[in-house]
Amino acid sequence: MGGSALLTRSAEAFARALRLMPGGVNSPVRAMRAIGRDPLFVASGAGAELVDVDGNRYVDWVMSWGPLAAGHAHPDVVAAVAAAAARGTSFGAPTEAEAELAEAVVERVPSVEMVRMTSSGTEASMSAIRLCRAATGRDAVLKFAGAYHGHVDGLLAESGSGLATQGIPASPGVTAAQAADTVVVPWNDRAAVDAALGERELAAILCEPYPANMGLVPPEPGFLPFLRERATQTGALLVFDEVISGFRVAAGGAQEREGVAPDLTVLGKIIGGGLPAAAYAGRRDLMELIAPAGSVYQAGTLSGNPLATAAGLATLALLDADAYARLDRTTAMLAEGLELAAADAGVAARVASTTGLLTLFFTAQPVRDYAAAAACDLEAHAAFCRAMLERGVYLPPSQFEAWFPSLAHGEQEVERTLAAAREALAEVSAR
Ligand SMILES: *Cc1c(COP(=O)(O)O)cnc(C)c1O
Repeated sequence: MGGSALLTRSAEAFARALRLMPGGVNSPVRAMRAIGRDPLFVASGAGAELVDVDGNRYVDWVMSWGPLAAGHAHPDVVAAVAAAAARGTSFGAPTEAEAELAEAVVERVPSVEMVRMTSSGTEASMSAIRLCRAATGRDAVLKFAGAYHGHVDGLLAESGSGLATQGIPASPGVTAAQAADTVVVPWNDRAAVDAALGERELAAILCEPYPANMGLVPPEPGFLPFLRERATQTGALLVFDEVISGFRVAAGGAQEREGVAPDLTVLGKIIGGGLPAAAYAGRRDLMELIAPAGSVYQAGTLSGNPLATAAGLATLALLDADAYARLDRTTAMLAEGLELAAADAGVAARVASTTGLLTLFFTAQPVRDYAAAAACDLEAHAAFCRAMLERGVYLPPSQFEAWFPSLAHGEQEVERTLAAAREALAEVSAR
């Protein structure tokens, strides 16, 4: 703008980062390549707002990709973390707070009797699969195209999130043997699941019950009960990866909302309240196969870390019935407003939403699987995201991610976002 030769501080920071880190980032989607611009560098966040190093303010709908259900720097969470830090940051020995968090999980998530904490969702899903293989004596795992379960070697096939964003169907570096033990079928496709079950004995059917890493693509009515039934019939274990949906779409996650009980549940994001924590959890007989109760090995230097545990507990304490009602209202208001704005601008769009999750798909077609999500007008999505950033609204810079409303978002943030969206959609329409 105005031909200024001065670089913004974000641009300077990015140039430096590019020399030091692959793509200038520590996780791919942050680089914003899919929307054809450079990343903003963050200085701070408060509530629903993010401030970049140049002092620009944004309504943040990324919220660290899900953990910040209470918003940035919620006073309760900050106080809990500060108090924990003052008592020592890590012990590598048990603390009472870990049992308190495990209890909070067992109370909320219907199918869970026992919990093992890890530091990332990737570790948790990797370990859950190891447990499924040990329990069943089988190797193969079924996953769905467009679902993301972390960067576990064997689970990267046709993965959502950053792989979908960059169009990477399978990562180099994954051995043929690891890939061969993963069966991938389209989401919401019962015939494909049955065909896969007819071909191989499976250790696990693994799914995001509310997939949100290809954009939000909810299960069609009856699909989750169908998976439950088939898993039971064939001796496979049903694993719900609720790293995103857990504590978000309801206190007990998607399994509570849908009334379907998996054998194991993978949790992450909100459970750490913005610090590194995740967990796998489930039936006692399965969980007690894990060392040292059993022989399935898994460990972690920082597992159950006191700071992460404190942040998770403080965040869960804020998520009461009123909080979910509020989260639901905010998301619905946003969804209705975006639908209306797109229609007014003459932009072909579909809004998928549920409590605390939303995706604006740039397509006229219903989106029931990854193929449909991938067929969206990605250029229109990119133009929309850029136009929103210029207007102070920070959206996930990929069509294959969801927006994350939080308790810090209210009517004001929704109005600010919709005002920007009306202008941005008019721009998209005029391209
Ligand atoms: C984010 C995510 C993961 C991976 O969690 P990390 O903490 O990033 O390793 C796994 N599954 C789902 C559904 C996720 O959204």
